[in-house]
Amino acid sequence: MALIMSCQNEAPITLGNGILINNVTILTPNENGYTSFKGSVIIDNDKIVKVSKNDQTLNGNYQTVNGKGKYIIPGLIDSHVHLASIAGMGWKHKKKYPELAKDYYNQLPRSYLYFGYTTLVDVNNYAPNVINGILRKPVRPDIYTCGDQIVVAHDLMMNDTPVEDRLIEHPHFLHDKYNDNVEMPSDIDLDKHTPKALVSRIVDESQGICVKTLYEDGFGGTEELTWELPSKDIIKEIVTEAHAQNVPVLLHANAYEAQKFGLETGIDVFAHGMWHWGKLTDYLNVNELPETHKNLLIEIANKKVGYQPTIRVVGGQKDVFNVNFLRNKKLQHVYPEDLLNWLNTEEGKWQEQNIRKYAKSFFDGLTNEEIMALLQKVVDKVEIATSTLAEHDANLVFGTDTPAANTHTMPPGLNGYLEMQKWQESGVSLEQILLAATYNNAKAFNLEDKYGSIEENKIANLLLLDKNPLKTIGAYNTIEKVIIRGQLLNRENLSATSN
Ligand SMILES: [Zn+2]
Repeated sequence: MALIMSCQNEAPITLGNGILINNVTILTPNENGYTSFKGSVIIDNDKIVKVSKNDQTLNGNYQTVNGKGKYIIPGLIDSHVHLASIAGMGWKHKKKYPELAKDYYNQLPRSYLYFGYTTLVDVNNYAPNVINGILRKPVRPDIYTCGDQIVVAHDLMMNDTPVEDRLIEHPHFLHDKYNDNVEMPSDIDLDKHTPKALVSRIVDESQGICVKTLYEDGFGGTEELTWELPSKDIIKEIVTEAHAQNVPVLLHANAYEAQKFGLETGIDVFAHGMWHWGKLTDYLNVNELPETHKNLLIEIANKKVGYQPTIRVVGGQKDVFNVNFLRNKKLQHVYPEDLLNWLNTEEGKWQEQNIRKYAKSFFDGLTNEEIMALLQKVVDKVEIATSTLAEHDANLVFGTDTPAANTHTMPPGLNGYLEMQKWQESGVSLEQILLAATYNNAKAFNLEDKYGSIEENKIANLLLLDKNPLKTIGAYNTIEKVIIRGQLLNRENLSATSN
């Protein structure tokens, strides 16, 4: 009865600048999974104004998209990107080839949209001018940041700076008062270096929606620990302060010990998967999670702590040595042609030498194929850990860390698609993947009133797909239209080849 009433009594909707997508299969995630039904989505300006199973009477100004046989999902969210870092170029190349860098940045927002990423979270906004430049572009994803990453005095981020210059070069450092190794010069105003001061700076001055900090205990024993680790108490204070200001805390943690530390301190999102199970040499050929590790991951899953496996961080390093990687035709859509050509030159392959150098004792004398085989064993670790998390229904939150270490093998947008494939190979279900990249992400970053599902009053960031993403991961590469804040875009016009 009520259904018929509502059907007949619905008032006509008048649109100012609208889009009607009708006859479409709507896939909208929610707390418990997703709902799927045929119907229509109505957008006006930058908002979703109606989602309905029934036909609606519309007035005013709008265009119609026939969604017959197609699927509509919320725009994807990648909550771990570094927009100022160029995939494929270090700062020296950037300086030497400013035109290549310029072309890259011009294409960057379109490359994310090309693969359906309509919301990005830059977790370390170290170069606000770059992000501000992207924000001025007419076609771009929505961008949020965690402000500057919180750097603890004398931690890894300061390690390359001479001791006497560290606090000057990193003026917004955090003073870890619980660490007796650290002595503060007497002229430092300690009140400016408390968790409260730092979190306030990120939230108030940088409009950050999250804070990120780091626990890196030596890259699986491949590097000697010559820097300070944060104390448990100081991270707990960060968490308390961040929660008081309503923002989540992300922790860079890719090792068992680091994730144990993260769980004990109450952080909200692990910014990496667990690829170091201990010393790399001890675990290289171990293919089953030790009981301790398994229990920790299950606890992380049960407590619903956010978790970004970032499998492609290691997978991308491996692909640096893969001669076929640059032959992937999809790269043409995300890299400008001139940059792609440069990446194919000897100079463009600088990362091979780079990786060989920093993991010298491991890679010395090995062929590229042997290095790939070795790195695959590290990829296996993070995939096994991810599979345990998926099995226990962890709160997976989609993030890629694009482009970690400036590798060209983590291309903007495309790397998200590659990461999704790795998740699926690790045993994460298609439903879990869709939720991680939409609803879970929105929730983890307190953005659920804007994004994450197809509901009235949310921002009109949507994807129209030819295939069903709950049937095949390939659906994420069958995007036909990208809708960003109510702007209807054809995918092909976002490609680097369309310039
Ligand atoms: Zn990162």
